[in-house]
Amino acid sequence: AKFSAGATALLRAVQAVVVEHESELGRLDAIAGDGDHGIGMRRGVDAAVAAAVSAAEAAAGVDQVLIIAGEAWAEKAGGTSGALWGSALCASGRALGNRERYSPDDAVGVVSAFSRAITDLGKAEAGDKTMVDALLPFVGTFIATYRSAASLQGALSAAAAAATTAASQTAELSPRRGRARPLAERSLGHPDPGAVSFGLIAAGIARAYA
Ligand code: ADP
Ligand code: MG
Ligand code: MG
Repeated sequence: AKFSAGATALLRAVQAVVVEHESELGRLDAIAGDGDHGIGMRRGVDAAVAAAVSAAEAAAGVDQVLIIAGEAWAEKAGGTSGALWGSALCASGRALGNRERYSPDDAVGVVSAFSRAITDLGKAEAGDKTMVDALLPFVGTFIATYRSAASLQGALSAAAAAATTAASQTAELSPRRGRARPLAERSLGHPDPGAVSFGLIAAGIARAYA
């Protein structure tokens, strides 16, 4: 259970960001979606933190903490983004395993597993105007920066900056997936809610490691 507290602390950092931006994310999703992205993320992360806290108290390993938190997130959030965030957390836990020590390659493995879970389940591609448009630049920048600079903190802040920029740039895109697709023209000029929340959360995680 050595790293379980770290996983719980990370989820709390995600929760703080979601709480702070809940209404803004709801308003953004109301432009071309159904307006529930803020409340959905809030329900999901609250359930994930509660599940992680009880799992960690029960001495679960870091992998189980993330898996239980992911299951709770997907179940309680409802909606597309909840299923995607939940499965990404579960996949991160499975990729991390429960060991005495971790190497830099493990961080790359976790980030890749997180991303692959979302693209496998949601099948969105770059340019579809979804969270994937912020996720892929995050992963690409994280891996490139981490391999060259070998600092987790540096890689996270560079990756978060890339995700934030990419999230704003989704404003120019027309949605090809999810609920915003039928209202595509309303969405033009506004960034995708799931991409924005991903960028905000990435920045919050980078700050938590700074
Ligand atoms: P719902 O659309 O079910 O109401 P949310 O409002 O919580 O769920 O989340 C909407 C976000 O989910 C979108 O802004 C987009 O980023 C993301 N999304 C929707 N469909 C997909 C998909 N197939 N792959 C990746 N992300 C998606
Ligand atoms: Mg919605
Ligand atoms: Mg919905």
